[in-house]
Amino acid sequence: MMEYRSLGRTDLRVSSLGFGASPFGDAYGETHPEELNRAVACAIDHGINFFDVAPYYGLTLAETRLGAALQGRRDRVVLMTKFGRYGLDDFDFSAARLHKSIDESLARLKTDHVDILLAHDIEFGDMEQVVEETIPALEAIKKQGKTRFIGVSGLPLGVLMRAVETDKLDVVLSYCRYNLMIRDLDQHLTPVAKRHGSGLINASPLHMGLLTKKGPPDWHPAPAAVKKAAHAMEEYCASRGLSLPDVALRMALDYAPVATTLVGMSNVAEVERNIETLGSTTDPELFEDLRKIAGPSFNQIWESGRPENSDSLLLVPQA
Ligand code: NAD
Repeated sequence: MMEYRSLGRTDLRVSSLGFGASPFGDAYGETHPEELNRAVACAIDHGINFFDVAPYYGLTLAETRLGAALQGRRDRVVLMTKFGRYGLDDFDFSAARLHKSIDESLARLKTDHVDILLAHDIEFGDMEQVVEETIPALEAIKKQGKTRFIGVSGLPLGVLMRAVETDKLDVVLSYCRYNLMIRDLDQHLTPVAKRHGSGLINASPLHMGLLTKKGPPDWHPAPAAVKKAAHAMEEYCASRGLSLPDVALRMALDYAPVATTLVGMSNVAEVERNIETLGSTTDPELFEDLRKIAGPSFNQIWESGRPENSDSLLLVPQA
């Protein structure tokens, strides 16, 4: 049974399992539009009502494909997209680009508004600009009715906390900071988001494909030791007749402060499998065994963004 949770200060109720559409841009291998359409239809039929995409995914391909798949179903979903990231090294968080970007996204998504609009990977921006220009510009887009709610996303937690502390964000998206490999979201961003009433979205419960049998895509930024540890975790689960992605998703779904956990999916089999995991049981001993197998690779994260936005400078170490 799908569970629905309130998303922070918004009036939205989102499915605890959310649909990440970055694979629609072929970031995890070639996908097929017909199968993507079937995956979206299957997800909605099973009660998934939260969809995330961005212009960056497949350099606009993912938005176009998701827009097509949502035709006739748009009113059944909470739709989130982003702005500000347009390539590996192509960022623009200016108000001028935002006004252009949202119109381009709406055209690709074939809708007159999105439900949530995020500034994408803000650690690559100048945080003065993000706070002084980007967030007020997002508020202006909200007033125009092109989005109902606004927020930011990124990898380092310090910049996300700073953005949330403006008290202007309805939601914040963090990825790769709360799953079987890492749990530092809980000490840092979670209490700040709660204090400010910003809905918390946790993405990448499979650590961007690392916690799967197939393993990570070539571009995965984790250090070699982390990849090796994930492989050992997979072998341990397999030796017990278990599938690591099932276990990893279960662990992430159990994290109550999060409104929705975003998993990347691109076919019906993945959607059905992940829907099944909603009804699975929690095994804290297994989580602990996997934590031990991860060893020193647990809670290790890679750098992302401008040096001045690094968590090594902005986060106060917790006891
Ligand atoms: P993820 O951890 O969800 O892993 C996705 C990979 O796991 C894909 O290869 C998918 O095919 C595979 N997968 C899914 N279910 C599976 C299953 N049951 N068994 C085996 N393999 C399975 O990583 P992600 O897709 O990068 O993250 C989820 C979503 O969150 C993204 O699609 C995107 O929408 C969002 N996200 C946003 C940001 C950001 O804003 N900066 C960053 C990361 C992710």
